[in-house]
Amino acid sequence: MTIKNVKLKVENLYKVFGDHPKKTISLIHKGLDKEAIFAKTGNTVGVNNASFEVYAGEIFVVMGLSGSGKSTLVRLLNRLIEPTEGNIWIDGQNITQMSDKELRQARRKKISMVFQSFALLPHMTVIENAAFGLTLDGFNKNQAQKEALDALEQVGLGTHANSYPSELSGGMQQRVGIARALATGSEIMLMDEAFSALDPLIRTEMQDELVKLQEKNHRTIIFISHDLDEAMRIGDRIAIMEQGNIVQVGTPEEILRNPETEYVEAFFKGVSMSEVLTAKNIINHKFFSVPKKGSQGLKTLSRLLDDSDFDYAYITTSDKRFIGVSTVESMQAAAKTTDKVEDSYLTGVTTIDADTPLNEVIGLMAEAPCPLPITNEKNEIIGILTRTKLLKALDPN
Ligand code: ADP
Ligand code: MG
Repeated sequence: MTIKNVKLKVENLYKVFGDHPKKTISLIHKGLDKEAIFAKTGNTVGVNNASFEVYAGEIFVVMGLSGSGKSTLVRLLNRLIEPTEGNIWIDGQNITQMSDKELRQARRKKISMVFQSFALLPHMTVIENAAFGLTLDGFNKNQAQKEALDALEQVGLGTHANSYPSELSGGMQQRVGIARALATGSEIMLMDEAFSALDPLIRTEMQDELVKLQEKNHRTIIFISHDLDEAMRIGDRIAIMEQGNIVQVGTPEEILRNPETEYVEAFFKGVSMSEVLTAKNIINHKFFSVPKKGSQGLKTLSRLLDDSDFDYAYITTSDKRFIGVSTVESMQAAAKTTDKVEDSYLTGVTTIDADTPLNEVIGLMAEAPCPLPITNEKNEIIGILTRTKLLKALDPN
């Protein structure tokens, strides 16, 4: 386990809508539920005793049915809604104690919001829209446009900088919304159902893009969704809300293995382990790999492999990118006619991206002549996937 750096911490956070917040909270402490409290006081419990931590660099998804308090929670985090009780720390600074001036600064540097209805201004060009947060913050125009263009390029809209929002599709407009948040350079991005209004195909495309953007940018993203597929696709961890409570927080795998309430279980109904686990979860780090060198012939290599405890040699470039797999037998066979290592590679070997869900690797593994190499985003081989581990992971017992 690597040590996680806590970016945002929420402690015993409450939001009551109505005129009797103190009384309402005392009723919560007495154990009354949301409906009973509303009947008694006319007040609505928006968020009820939420406590959780968000780690630097993760995509933290908050999921729950409509009305469960997701939007209220996310708006409390930057005090668009004032908490009734509780604490919120960003990098150890307590947001709830900040003066207006400090809060403005925090919203600029630390925490920005991407809205669902992209909130683009129709009479401004794409780049002016993307730069909007910055010009409000008193950046000079050139500086703001430079940052905005950089952000637009990151979301693939560099060439549309001078278009107007009405000339863009819904997906592109949402990208401008994301670019605007990226341009501010803020460390935490709050996204409330940011993709819910998009067509399904564009929506998955945006989800994948957000994950990629995140890998490059290392922002921390708090993403609200009521959609489990979306949550699993993008979330490093998921928090599940019910009636203003956070009822469970964990990785999709942890939640699926051990749902804490029936509500959580119902959310994950129909999801199988093979959708949740990825190649990286069952990676085997022990394998024999050698960089291919011009001078190193088949005989040397087959002797090296023969002397090792391994059956397969994973041949790579000098910068660890996978080229091919050989066995002692395949090398001996090839050595009869050649000294080229590449003539001994097994056929039918494909690499598996570390983030591929297991349900997508089953087919590949069935055909594979050997454990398949698992690669990272730089295409470096980081481990192998064996059939035994795959079968074990898929067997619920
Ligand atoms: P979600 O985003 O999960 O759909 P919300 O955070 O919007 O849920 O709402 C949580 C609860 O708080 C709901 O019962 C909702 O009716 C109530 N609520 C939200 N905003 C207000 C408000 N401004 N005034 C009164 N009640 C509100
Ligand atoms: Mg909402």
